[in-house]
Amino acid sequence: MPFADLHLHTFFSDGTYSPEEMVEKARGWGFSALSLTDHDTVEGCERTAAACALAEIEFISGAELTAQHEEHEIHILGYFIDTSHAGLLSEIEKFQAVRQNRIREIVARLNSLGIPLDAETVFNLANCRSPGRPHVARALVQAGVCSGLDEAFERFLKKNRPAFVPKFKMSAAVAIDLIHEAGGVAVLAHPGLNHADQVIAPMAEAGLDGIECFHTKHSTSTAEHYLEIADSLNLLVTGGSDCHGMNKGKPLIGTIKLPYQHVQKLKERVKERKEGLKPRISAN
Ligand code: AMP
Ligand code: FE
Ligand code: FE
Ligand code: ZN
Repeated sequence: MPFADLHLHTFFSDGTYSPEEMVEKARGWGFSALSLTDHDTVEGCERTAAACALAEIEFISGAELTAQHEEHEIHILGYFIDTSHAGLLSEIEKFQAVRQNRIREIVARLNSLGIPLDAETVFNLANCRSPGRPHVARALVQAGVCSGLDEAFERFLKKNRPAFVPKFKMSAAVAIDLIHEAGGVAVLAHPGLNHADQVIAPMAEAGLDGIECFHTKHSTSTAEHYLEIADSLNLLVTGGSDCHGMNKGKPLIGTIKLPYQHVQKLKERVKERKEGLKPRISAN
């Protein structure tokens, strides 16, 4: 049975693989389809699509948008989006600018703690429009301040640590609308990491199309829990490894093999949305 990985990062956000390296790994694992879901950017989609075409893997355009619902940070995956959609591009450009300013702020905080680092070093290392804390962490390791990424997060970068700077996020409803306007479908990423199941029903009402039931960090029982929620709210089911290349020690690609039938259902939903037949949110 063919299978897909619908959650992958490259060095166009905070992964370490180039699109070509990532596609080569996917080919090795035997994936039939994959989606690139870099954080708040679609920059890597063109190269990934080209590499997929050579490897005879079906490419699904994607992005992982940082959003919030009430006080919860949530990530919304957009699939089958038109990566040249002007509205989408201008919106994500704003978020990229916010991310870049945030890097400057994080670096200023590190400087005030006596750590000599400059923002340009982080930008050069990131070499993408969507820099984030993992790039600062890598810069801290390169500078010899920390021995690994985890140490950098633990000492400085995670919430309640001295160089933590919150990120401005769009509302979940805006992110969902934006994805729909760009012709895609909107899926809640890794709900098991959010500890906020109460956001799912209101998001479904706002037009959410699916939830990522299968994820590397979801246990079997967590996946089952979200499959039940998906069923009760008439949401589609997706899954992906959330592979960031070598960022987290070993690559995660290959840990999730989403049966292709779920990709087929996503495509049907895309078609329904295109035809203006917004699917009814189930009342059962
Ligand atoms: P940001 O988007 O700048 O808030 O950074 C969030 C990203 O940091 C996540 O997508 C993860 O890839 C990464 N991350 C979070 N915690 C850790 C950690 N302990 N070690 C390595 N990467 C992490
Ligand atoms: Fe990430
Ligand atoms: Fe995420
Ligand atoms: Zn991700």
